[in-house]
Amino acid sequence: VIGQRAEVKALEALDTDACVRLAQELVRIPSVTGEERAVQDHVASVMSAAGLEVERFDADLARLKQHPRFPGMEVERTEAVLVAATTGPRGDRSLILNGHVDVVPVGDGQHWQASPWSGHVHAGRLYGRGAADMKAGLAVGIAAASALRKSGIPLRGRLVVHSVVGEEDGGVGTFAMLDRGYRADAAIILEPTGLRLIPAQAGALSFRLRIPGRAAHASVRYEGVSAIDKFELVQARLRQLERSLNASPHELFRRYPIPYALSIGRLRAGSWSAMVPDDLRCEGRVGVPIGMSSGDVRGQFEAAVADAAVKDSWLSEHPPLVEWYGGQFNAAEANPDLPAFQALREAHGQEFGVPPEMDGAPYGSDMRLYIHEAEIPAILYGPGDIRQAHSANESIAVSEIVQAARVLTGAAARYLAA
Ligand SMILES: [Zn+2]
Repeated sequence: VIGQRAEVKALEALDTDACVRLAQELVRIPSVTGEERAVQDHVASVMSAAGLEVERFDADLARLKQHPRFPGMEVERTEAVLVAATTGPRGDRSLILNGHVDVVPVGDGQHWQASPWSGHVHAGRLYGRGAADMKAGLAVGIAAASALRKSGIPLRGRLVVHSVVGEEDGGVGTFAMLDRGYRADAAIILEPTGLRLIPAQAGALSFRLRIPGRAAHASVRYEGVSAIDKFELVQARLRQLERSLNASPHELFRRYPIPYALSIGRLRAGSWSAMVPDDLRCEGRVGVPIGMSSGDVRGQFEAAVADAAVKDSWLSEHPPLVEWYGGQFNAAEANPDLPAFQALREAHGQEFGVPPEMDGAPYGSDMRLYIHEAEIPAILYGPGDIRQAHSANESIAVSEIVQAARVLTGAAARYLAA
């Protein structure tokens, strides 16, 4: 009952118009992964203006890169600017809301009907790169913290908003936050889940594969060894591995045709059309099932490639090379019945009359860093549709931003009210 009275006061203090405006402002500041300083400056000033305690710092990249569990990066980066905002006293409860400011590149600008950085609202939707993934989510987190602070309700603990960089290429920002010493009893990552609660997330590992062949003139191709032909052998074995990784998926993943996908994204072979290719290089990603470690999956992948090689006379003497690089996302899972997540489910129920649907996420996010690096239970819950993420004309329903702001504000008040 105390929680509910606090929830009403916090919701009265919530400014949903300001939340939507902030989402627009954030979209209008380009922040492709690696170039996030300007948007973080804006985030910090908005947080300060709301009366939150703000810490803004530059991560020590040189030191973090030496860390044995550094999550990897795919872009060359010279800096990582982090911003955290806190409201409430140190107490017996604490909650982190996490949002990343970095966005993926816009791709071919021709496919966009307006500037990818327009942040305009049309027919009830906010448009622009990062609108769904996930500047609206971050705006929701800041709005919830601002509402808690403005409402003046007594709190038994702290609400901390983490505005991080470098999520799209591995998670250096959240890794730096945890290295800085931020801890809490629970974390909610405000990724676009369509307001479903996601307590389980598959992992994803990036790999490179190099397959040797032997060059020959194409007219006597039987005198050479085509690296493309040998790749087909390896690929067939990798399809078999994918089937075995997907043999009995976690129950929240059963609706996906392939929950833990193995996919080749880039491939290059040979140097001349009339020549047998003597070298093939490809890159791809392999999913990590819930309950399996990344090390297990790497081991099974390498064993599958080796298995394809021993069955072929050429490959057994010229084995393919496997390399792991860039983002290495572990799978992660949290108990959705913990008090913080229960508060979120109740606040969602208050808003919609029904509890949130539960789902599993087949993609990686910073959730696994909270769980594996700091043992902070973490889930995903936020506004927007994941299918909008990384697409041209990315957009999000304004009504969903408002609903998310109400649910998160209500959840934080329920969980943290004294
Ligand atoms: Zn995201």
